[in-house]
Amino acid sequence: MRCPYCAGENTQVKDSRPTEENAAIRRRRICPDCGGRFTTFERVQLRELTVVKRSGRKVPFDRDKLVRSVEVALRKRPIDQERVERMVSGLVRQLESAGESEVASSTIGGLVMEALRGLDPVAYVRFASVYRDFREAADFHEVLGEIATDPVGVHETHMTFDTAVSDAAALKKH
Ligand SMILES: [Zn+2]
Repeated sequence: MRCPYCAGENTQVKDSRPTEENAAIRRRRICPDCGGRFTTFERVQLRELTVVKRSGRKVPFDRDKLVRSVEVALRKRPIDQERVERMVSGLVRQLESAGESEVASSTIGGLVMEALRGLDPVAYVRFASVYRDFREAADFHEVLGEIATDPVGVHETHMTFDTAVSDAAALKKH
């Protein structure tokens, strides 16, 4: 594995252990040339996925990008990284086992929304507001109505609704 800092080819594995309930191997690596340290993950990949965007443009599926967008939605929420990784791995596994090598970005968005809905209601509203590109307050109320079917999430969601709306605006620029 090439060093991400100096592009040196001599990096060494310092530590290697299972993570995400044995679904992945985490390796800590060090570069003897520059002293740089970095971490890599080894995961099963069942299928090469291509994402078809709304514009019709096709790009390779990028797991890290998906993790980042989920992390933005979960910013300052009490959900640890391990759960995020497990959730994303579950989503990827669903996509890979669906049998299609091309997947619409809207399909991925829908799966993320569904997963976040169970994980954290505030993150769900944040993500949904961007994914659905809300313009009207009525759209937010529609989503809140969906959450209202979940008695655990509804109170907290209303408490932080204003935050979610302003966060959604920030997320859009992201
Ligand atoms: Zn290096």
